[in-house]
Amino acid sequence: MADRPETLIQHLAEETHDRAAVVPPIYQTSLFAYEDVASFRRSFRTDEPDVHNYSRVSNPTLDVAEKKVAALEGTDRCKLFSSGMAAISAAILSCVKTGSHVVCVDTVYGPTRQFLTDYLPKFGVTTTFVDGRDPADFVAATTDATSLYYLESPSSILFRLQDLEAVAGIAKSRGISTICDNSWASPVYQQPAKFGIDIVVHSATKYLAGHSDVVAGALCTDAKRFDKILENEVSLLGAALPPFPAWLLMRGLRTLPIRLKAVGEAATRVSACLRSAPEVAEVFYVGDSEYPQAALRDKQLLGSTGLVTFLPVTQEEAKVIAFAEALRLFQLGVSWGGHESLVVPLQQQPGDWPKRQWLVRLYCGLEHPDDLVEDIQQALHHLA
Ligand SMILES: *Cc1c(COP(=O)(O)O)cnc(C)c1O
Repeated sequence: MADRPETLIQHLAEETHDRAAVVPPIYQTSLFAYEDVASFRRSFRTDEPDVHNYSRVSNPTLDVAEKKVAALEGTDRCKLFSSGMAAISAAILSCVKTGSHVVCVDTVYGPTRQFLTDYLPKFGVTTTFVDGRDPADFVAATTDATSLYYLESPSSILFRLQDLEAVAGIAKSRGISTICDNSWASPVYQQPAKFGIDIVVHSATKYLAGHSDVVAGALCTDAKRFDKILENEVSLLGAALPPFPAWLLMRGLRTLPIRLKAVGEAATRVSACLRSAPEVAEVFYVGDSEYPQAALRDKQLLGSTGLVTFLPVTQEEAKVIAFAEALRLFQLGVSWGGHESLVVPLQQQPGDWPKRQWLVRLYCGLEHPDDLVEDIQQALHHLA
């Protein structure tokens, strides 16, 4: 099997169904029945990848997509979940116990932060948030109780990077687990496991499924961790992805490399347009030549994708809102990674900023880049 992502996505794990059909079927079944007790008993073994017992734990439709995503990430196994947060909470829970301490990047996805700050303390799990652009931030925050470093690189909204290899090395020498949210890059542009990260998580709602019609998550890791997570967090918390959305995810995955290239090109055009606009104070775009962590970017990432955030010169709320509302192609909405361009005006204050600032986050979709640039140009005067 060729391991280039474009080819692997089309061919890997397709042998699990009738070879005459070029598209795997949807196994819309909750359970699997057996003819003898020996086979029935074998179906309970979670370490038997192609044997199924109950769709809360595994299903052949999910298998196809899971094998492709695991191969793309370069990990032994992948499990799909009913949302990115289901995968993230399962991954985190697999690495903590009462009294554990977590070190996490402060520009992490909002609900991940909330899970760590508002939910886990009731089990005695505490978290320290660090900037994370310097690996020494993790060392400084580590205590005797630290069991997990939680990374998101590039991180949400401001797209800050962590040095995955350095942080994974620090963690390994101290017996600390590492998780990296890889939603921004997708495995086509970044494979955190290659740098030593233990567990890779995704909001598959974003690029992996890619058409704004599925909410899903993915967790990728080595066989040993996987078996434990399957027995515990997958089976007991029960956030299984149903077969039909898994099939949609697999279909979306077919075009992942092509979509990433297209949205990356659109975002490059949009960020250049914003950079030359007098109404814009700062542009946050990983693909820019002026991106402050360019050396680390070039080490870890193979490409840049569709998200661009900017800091408007004006901090007047009414003007920022007027700009967002004046856009015609960028729709006002959360999420990203689908076919359609989106805009979110939001306020943010990472640890190193003296005050909360208005930002505009844009997701560049699959429309023609000229049209996206024109749309921004016709709306910019609202920021004057
Ligand atoms: C959207 C998102 C999530 C959460 O995923 P859901 O599928 O919405 O649960 C996690 N991490 C990042 C970086 C995201 O953008």
